[in-house]
Amino acid sequence: MSDNIINNSEIGRREFLKVCGGVAAGLMAAPCSNNISAAGSKKSRRPNILFIFSDDHSNNTISAYGSRVNKTSNIDRIAEEGAIFTNSFCTNSICQPSRASILTGKHSHRNGVTHNGAPWNGQQMVFTRLLEKEGYQTALLGKWHMRPEPTDEFGYWKVLSGYGGQGRYHDPIFSSAKGSETVEGYSTDVITDMAIDWMDNERDPGKPFMLFTQYKSPHVPRRPAVRHLDLFKDVEVPEPPTLYDDYSTRQPYASEAWMHISGLNEEVANIFPPKDSGVPLDQKQAEWLGRLSREDREKYHEAYDEQNAEYYEMKKSGKLDDRDAQTKYFYQRFIKDYLRCVTAVDENVGRLLDYLDEKGLAEDTVVVYSSDQSYYVGEHGWAEKRWMYEESLQMPFVVRWPKVIEPGKKIHKLIQNMDYAPTFLEMAGAEIPEEMQGSSLLPLLSGDPQKVDWRDAIYYHYYQHGAHNVPRHDGVRTYRFKLIHFYTDDTYEMYNLKDDPYEVKNIYGTPENKRIQQTLLKKLQQLRKEYKVPQSDFKAPYVCG
Ligand code: CA
Repeated sequence: MSDNIINNSEIGRREFLKVCGGVAAGLMAAPCSNNISAAGSKKSRRPNILFIFSDDHSNNTISAYGSRVNKTSNIDRIAEEGAIFTNSFCTNSICQPSRASILTGKHSHRNGVTHNGAPWNGQQMVFTRLLEKEGYQTALLGKWHMRPEPTDEFGYWKVLSGYGGQGRYHDPIFSSAKGSETVEGYSTDVITDMAIDWMDNERDPGKPFMLFTQYKSPHVPRRPAVRHLDLFKDVEVPEPPTLYDDYSTRQPYASEAWMHISGLNEEVANIFPPKDSGVPLDQKQAEWLGRLSREDREKYHEAYDEQNAEYYEMKKSGKLDDRDAQTKYFYQRFIKDYLRCVTAVDENVGRLLDYLDEKGLAEDTVVVYSSDQSYYVGEHGWAEKRWMYEESLQMPFVVRWPKVIEPGKKIHKLIQNMDYAPTFLEMAGAEIPEEMQGSSLLPLLSGDPQKVDWRDAIYYHYYQHGAHNVPRHDGVRTYRFKLIHFYTDDTYEMYNLKDDPYEVKNIYGTPENKRIQQTLLKKLQQLRKEYKVPQSDFKAPYVCG
């Protein structure tokens, strides 16, 4: 962010900037053929696109984004051999809406998926169908999560089913046009196997492809692969600076949210009675542990029994009665399982990259790694998403395209998941529909980002009022400032991201920031109008669990 901070006085004065000589960024983007000299303009040179996507993967657990707690060599490799976007964000920080924005290139209120559980209208415009029309083969393997299941959005699909579309970690069940099947193995490995098999055997090698490889991991409940159960075992993982946030300068919502790590559910934290304790498993524990093979169940007991016995003892003796003590304890339990799941994701990203190398496909294949949103891995005391605060507003986005992107490129422009659809269309040389609200990232990837006119602010809108006790809110983020409107009570928060990168000092209403506050309020109104957010969205908040 640091080298791209815009002057306060610029905010508001600058209109939405122009992309490719005249198209309003953020509203639509026309094909920019002058910016794709190396690729995209000729159909014979159109790239394959491998989109690798996970669920709830925090930027702070990716070493390319500066993780203090783990190393992700394979995801980093994509960034090192291609580009990393340092200001990459979602439109609405929750699973289904993020996926819908990616497919449609639009904000939630325009594609209908405003919250988890909102029905997916598969007949609306999605970029994959447009790619198919251009002669691409498209496939989605892994986590789909939307309801209903795909119809003809992809040429081929096989998606995780069960558990509300979340799928499970061990021996996952998949659904496809042909029916349902259970596949033995660990879900992250199995989905990669399917992706490799599709590239090897299912597709027509004479056509370019767009393949979505979408992991469930590291989404809750986190069950690591047995080969990773001992990772980080004897390590004290560093705590994030805001783990014990007291929320003192904020509106009351953050302190009242139901996502604090101190209240982590025992079942979610892989806490269960040790094998020789004589204590029977409860129903949930029996359900998931019972599904493991005898051998894997033994390994889970070997890995967790000692620490679980210690946990029950601490609980009994009152050592975990204090909230800070709970936070400290559960943070370690949580983060270690989370990182174990991330390790499997990173290994499988490596398998896919190796496959492309072995088959001579790497040069002609765009590889993206992203996740539906980032996640609080202890920041502000939380283990969740939803808020417009940085950790869940972000999305990891690294991309490699050897023929077009200079290795090691760092791009600081403000991007959102609604930009992916126009990007992939432009990479394929296809026309970008006017109704898309995102802008193609290709000019940023292929040229000097500083010379590309681009948006100076992003718009965010979270709708799922009441889930985890988080209220609906929308807001605007520039390079330096953020304004959040909790409109159900008409209250605001504002942050200076340069002076206060952890967002612990709400400056809304402070006299010294009055001018920038007015500018941001105006910008928020402007973006609502430009993105055509209906007035009714602000008047009738629904409550859902
Ligand atoms: Ca998610």
